[in-house]
Amino acid sequence: MDSLLYDKIVSCNKCTRLREYVKNFKIPPRFKDWEYWNKPVPGFGDKDAKILIVGLAPALHGGNRTGRVFTGDESGKWVIKGLYTLGLSNKEEGINRNDGLKIKEVYLTNAVKCVPPENKPTKEEILNCSYFLREEILSLKNLRVIVALGRIAFESILLIYGMRIKFKHGVIIDLPDGKKLIASYHPSAQNTKTGRLKWEDWIKILEMAHEISNNPQY
Ligand code: SF4
Repeated sequence: MDSLLYDKIVSCNKCTRLREYVKNFKIPPRFKDWEYWNKPVPGFGDKDAKILIVGLAPALHGGNRTGRVFTGDESGKWVIKGLYTLGLSNKEEGINRNDGLKIKEVYLTNAVKCVPPENKPTKEEILNCSYFLREEILSLKNLRVIVALGRIAFESILLIYGMRIKFKHGVIIDLPDGKKLIASYHPSAQNTKTGRLKWEDWIKILEMAHEISNNPQY
């Protein structure tokens, strides 16, 4: 991500409700020594990425704490470990912004860059932040595949392309600019601990994205 876009995201205050939310919450004892990021969380990864993975929003004590997407929460564990399994990450887990994590061929972001109360952004907040998602997509010149984690991320991407399609895990959509969109259940604890998303099914999604991104026939 270029520094201009990074600065624009990090300093954004467009959604008053979300910016206010992080001014007053209780830090759990296990994170009492942390200086929380408490700002919009920009994307992270390989600027030459062929695959973009889009989650919903940073978790209050995950990305909002560490300042890096999919770092410090349960979803992040599945995302980074999945990439590690495919040889696309040098570490199994992201801990903080200075942990030396490097991922290749993949860029990670969220549809909404600020943590929403109860993980529920409003339609207006999703629309506000779709500007940044679009900018991130446009900035990735080698992008071939977008993996949407959950219905809101899926619909946020379709919104950018002016499309409406029902979310279904595993579905592959042809986007008007030639990219493919893959829908997956979000690897949130709510889905992984209930078995809605199993590890082998998650790896299949990532393998599918990796194969499509490297195969010109798709
Ligand atoms: S959610 Fe997006 S548009 Fe809204 S304040 Fe955060 S960065 Fe800005």
